[in-house]
Amino acid sequence: VTVDDASPSLFAPSLLAALGVLRARGLRISAARRLILDALYRADRPLSAHDLAGRISADLASVYRNLGLLEEVGLVRRVRLGGGPGLYSLASAAHYEFVSCERCGAFEAIHPKRLEGVRALIEQEFGYRANFGQFPIVGVCADCEAVAPTATRSQ
Ligand SMILES: [Zn+2]
Repeated sequence: VTVDDASPSLFAPSLLAALGVLRARGLRISAARRLILDALYRADRPLSAHDLAGRISADLASVYRNLGLLEEVGLVRRVRLGGGPGLYSLASAAHYEFVSCERCGAFEAIHPKRLEGVRALIEQEFGYRANFGQFPIVGVCADCEAVAPTATRSQ
């Protein structure tokens, strides 16, 4: 996972605050921009442009164009996960961490709080404070495991 840090991140705690940022920059608050931001504020995980287009019933090209602008402004951040599609979240949202399947490419965004137990265990055993935001925890997802169990499981 690499986070594109080319643009500055802006802290906008609410949709209203984000719209205020656009207004302050003299940018038009189009229906598409409002809907994209609203969807991102409601989402509990980063979304792909495809997800967003589906949620707000907009065409993909328009979603990409507006995401590009929101990223430039600093309201939206793009995360890349291996070869998967780019994912977008609010720049001010919690930094997600990820688990990813090495076989089918499935991934899940996880709130850092849910990984505290794992982090504590690793810290206790190895003295390292683990961070899964930059690189995901890579393994085999439940679906792939059901189809063909990994050999290490039985050892
Ligand atoms: Zn899988």
